[in-house]
Amino acid sequence: MKKLKIGHLYPKLLNIYGDGGNIITLKKRAQWRGIEVEVHEINSGDVWLGEHDIYFIGGGQDTQQKEVSYELNRHKEFMTAERDRGAVFLGICGGYQLLGHYYQPHEGDKLMGISLLDVYTVAGNKRFIGNVTVQWENETLVGFENHSGLTYLQGDTKPIGTMIVGNGNNGEDKTEGARYKNVFGTYMHGSFLPKNPKFADYLLELALGEKLEPLDDTIENNAHNSLIKKVY
Ligand code: GLN
Repeated sequence: MKKLKIGHLYPKLLNIYGDGGNIITLKKRAQWRGIEVEVHEINSGDVWLGEHDIYFIGGGQDTQQKEVSYELNRHKEFMTAERDRGAVFLGICGGYQLLGHYYQPHEGDKLMGISLLDVYTVAGNKRFIGNVTVQWENETLVGFENHSGLTYLQGDTKPIGTMIVGNGNNGEDKTEGARYKNVFGTYMHGSFLPKNPKFADYLLELALGEKLEPLDDTIENNAHNSLIKKVY
């Protein structure tokens, strides 16, 4: 039986606005296809359990980000090797910011990220809060944003999509999220994957290295479509 190993990074610190639902979605959508799934929660001070197929890191406030910044940088070399090996990463909001070079809060020093994405973030004067929709290839993604951080993409790091409704990375360049190799960051909380099943399967197929049989996503698509109607 195929096995999928998921590393859930710092859930005791970064896990707000339902972000843990992304782990449940990845786990169930793999299990519904007969794939064995191991989910390892990795918190501050834990011994790391080697390579994983997918790493997930949720969002949180500046205070929690400060501790995670220190912890993540203890494993920067390993995480960079995991990225370059092709492992999938998904970071949401505060977790996304720490997959980049740094997050500069309103006060205090920069919180250093691990530079898996060529992006940087600075705290803005306005908090972006609300439902969002994003054009991703031929699909529309839906989510919820709540951040003051303004994220700017550089180099070969490209956006996940283009804003339809909402602010996205910085409220200026109409971009949302970021991708480099199989590392993805997004500001979409909510949680993101349960109501964007096509994106969830896209990540699973990248992690498993194969196409997956479609599931009956009637319920997921109803949730997706009801949110799109709500946003417009
Ligand atoms: N503290 C960061 C910001 O406000 C991230 C917030 C979050 O993860 N929702 O931009």
